[in-house]
Amino acid sequence: MARIVLKFGGTSVADLERIHNVAKHVKREHDAGHQVAVVVSAMAGKTNELVNWVQTMPKVAGSGGSFFDAREYDSIVASGEQVTSGLLAIALQSMGVDARSWLGWQIPVKTNNAHGAARIEDIDGTEIIKRMGNGQVAVVAGFQGIGPDKRISTLGRGGSDTSAVALAAALHADRCDIYTDVDGVYTTDPRIEPKACRLDRISFEEMLEMASLGAKVLQVRSVELAMVHGVKTFVRSSFDNPEEIDSSPDARPVGTLICDEDDIVEKQVVTGIAYARDESQISLRRVPDKPGVSASIFGPLAEEYVNVDMIVQSVSEDGSRTDMTFTVPDADLAKAIKVLEANREKIGYEIMQSDKGLVKVSVIGIGMRSHAGVAATAFNALAEKGINIRAITTSEIKFSVLLDSEYTELAVRTLHSVYGLDKVA
Ligand code: ADP
Ligand code: ASP
Ligand code: MG
Repeated sequence: MARIVLKFGGTSVADLERIHNVAKHVKREHDAGHQVAVVVSAMAGKTNELVNWVQTMPKVAGSGGSFFDAREYDSIVASGEQVTSGLLAIALQSMGVDARSWLGWQIPVKTNNAHGAARIEDIDGTEIIKRMGNGQVAVVAGFQGIGPDKRISTLGRGGSDTSAVALAAALHADRCDIYTDVDGVYTTDPRIEPKACRLDRISFEEMLEMASLGAKVLQVRSVELAMVHGVKTFVRSSFDNPEEIDSSPDARPVGTLICDEDDIVEKQVVTGIAYARDESQISLRRVPDKPGVSASIFGPLAEEYVNVDMIVQSVSEDGSRTDMTFTVPDADLAKAIKVLEANREKIGYEIMQSDKGLVKVSVIGIGMRSHAGVAATAFNALAEKGINIRAITTSEIKFSVLLDSEYTELAVRTLHSVYGLDKVA
């Protein structure tokens, strides 16, 4: 007998029929003798709808820089998960499974005070462990917790993955199964490259890079928690027929295990390709090249919580002036421009230029640590397709290129193929 946490995302609970299908998956694990806790997301599209409602409300002055009160935002957008947790508990009860729903505050899932992007600080698993011991299934609303101000908090978009992994750590679960609309983690998003292959295993580090560089199959924070707490995390499909799956201890279901690097036998140089849309590029031209210039640009941006990503500096011919190019999310562009205009004299740039709606395509693989020339292969392949690279960044196990967004599919497919990741027909 094992203790397991199962998480079902938005498409898996998109309507009542799918919720019944999810209940069958849960019942299967329960009937196999496992202690089961389930984490659910809101129905697909629900959270977007709630967020849009908040954003169309009249703007309120003095609400911490944003247009709305973040505490009320959380109270509204967390409601989708309340509905699905209750519905799933009823579906389970109707199949004869003892089940009870739980909201974040009832457990409690304690978070910090960063409403809208809160971090889980502690989960008290005592009551749930007791009830699981009595055969009751806990159905937990994902994405939400309670802040030190005793108000509902949410964990940032895609946060139910993090709820599930954190709960698995708190309950000392043997496994955390993330059920979603794909049957595992692929070499790239299968929606844009049908030749993508499912990975049997991927290391925590690579998954962390994939997630933070745009592969939204897992929220970044969930991977960090899985890595820190050693939670055995398995990504699998909720659309498999629940009746045909073997839940016995020796079963090897289809999916991807996120695990330690040492547990991967066949190591590839490149493991996957990720992409992130909605990037903006800002260039400050002819900035005086003297000590402190970077601080004068990036200090004020950081103070206003603008998330700066790729940074490229190119010195002019005579060496006295420099061009600074960097990227920020599209959503932060207007704010960044305002900050830079306000600091124009201090920074001393002559011209500011910006472009919206770009894409960052990244290549990830632990093998890059020991192989030279991996990035050069990409630059050649992209050049052959006539794709212009606006900026490049590299680190130990990944590199990224900034491109015009019309090249997204072509660039991802070109890189996928050049690193030999295409599925063999
Ligand atoms: P859920 O609602 O279950 O949380 P998400 O939509 O958040 O599901 O994440 C699953 C989606 O992630 C898939 O439908 C897929 O399009 C996308 N995705 C992006 N990159 C990858 C990848 N490398 N492997 C698998 N899925 C990926
Ligand atoms: N429902 C939330 C969202 O759409 C959380 C999640 O799906 O993980 O972001
Ligand atoms: Mg998700």
